[in-house]
Amino acid sequence: MRVFKFGGASVQDVDHVKHVGKILEQYKGEKNLIIISAIGKTTNALETVAEAFFAGRKEDALRLFGDIRKQHLTLAKYLLVLEFNPCIAQLADFFTEVEWLLHDKPVREFSYYYDQIVSVGELMSTCIISYYLKEYKINNEWLDVRDVLRTDNHFQEGVVDWDFTQKAVQSQLLPLFEKTDIVITQGFIGSTDQCENTTLGREGSDFSAAIFASILEADNLTIWKDVEGIMNADPRRFPEAVYIPQLSYQEVIEMAYYGAQVIHPKTIKPLQNKNIPLHVKCFLDTGLPGTLINQHPAKDLPPILIDKQHQALIHLRTLDFSFIEEKPMSRLYKIFRELKIKPNLIQTGAISLQVAVDDQTDKIERFAIKASEWFDVQLQKDLNLFTIRHYNEGVISKYLLGKEQVLYQQNESNLQVLYK
Ligand code: ASP
Ligand code: MG
Repeated sequence: MRVFKFGGASVQDVDHVKHVGKILEQYKGEKNLIIISAIGKTTNALETVAEAFFAGRKEDALRLFGDIRKQHLTLAKYLLVLEFNPCIAQLADFFTEVEWLLHDKPVREFSYYYDQIVSVGELMSTCIISYYLKEYKINNEWLDVRDVLRTDNHFQEGVVDWDFTQKAVQSQLLPLFEKTDIVITQGFIGSTDQCENTTLGREGSDFSAAIFASILEADNLTIWKDVEGIMNADPRRFPEAVYIPQLSYQEVIEMAYYGAQVIHPKTIKPLQNKNIPLHVKCFLDTGLPGTLINQHPAKDLPPILIDKQHQALIHLRTLDFSFIEEKPMSRLYKIFRELKIKPNLIQTGAISLQVAVDDQTDKIERFAIKASEWFDVQLQKDLNLFTIRHYNEGVISKYLLGKEQVLYQQNESNLQVLYK
């Protein structure tokens, strides 16, 4: 058994969806669970629908959703002939689900509505692709992942109920493989025990794929991407980026932690638990070897460069001049947890401390209000955080010389500089 994951970019238009069919043809005769994201930038578009609805701008929400609906109908029209009508009928059910909700008034929290609305992206994409593959004579079954992937009701970041999900995989998913070699389902979404939609956090489809790979004890998981494999830097910003043929689970977790947008950070643990290799392969050129991620430590890694923009530095000093020890730290972490703020870099002094965070203005403002009970709070904006893993003298001078440094931190394997 294999698990494949296709992200939004890999199914962004007619040609890309057709290409998914071509890839699957190469794996004919093998059992394959296919996890798919929403088409292109649909999730972003659905987020604006949820925001408009929650802000009470019902007409805007309906109009924005109307655009998304049209876009999906157009895609179905270009891809389907024989299967067009059944596909449209199923899509209509998804559209109705959302439109009904949009006619209501919001009475619950935003996250709840976000998940009810945004999750339709994956339902629509998988529906169209499943019918396309049928039309293309690739027999497959479509599975509503909400019947299988159970989470708690932490909307926007559902916590997986592994026991339930495991049992549901046995009872609902595995029987489908007796009928067909290919099962298509949604990444990113799940459901509570009250049949409410949940999502696993942005870019969560990688995580979904890992959950299924782990439960199914798959031979491997392949994530198809629009790059050659994992690179040591973002090639759009660093044209000299090189591709890395093999990485360890641990290295990938570290890279994700420091902000490399390679793979959703939660993806690795379930794979590592069962020692399932992860391949990151090039969607457009399937002949390329891609990157293999497994338990073996990688040898001769190039320096890994991660440049995170839009950083803010929060300067904190205890109001009563008490040392930065357990008490102030635990107060700070409590606020971080409440506001879901992830510190990217922390530097402590005797009575002061500095924290670099992603610059999300409203979160930082709320943070400042809460923290000012115990701390003097100052804010510095428009910064970038440059991290180099496996640094050496050459890269340090190449990338850091001439940068106006605000904060510097270094340990055995990482060097981090916050600069203007
Ligand atoms: N469609 C979701 C997103 O864009 C999930 C994913 O792509 O993994 O965040
Ligand atoms: Mg995506």
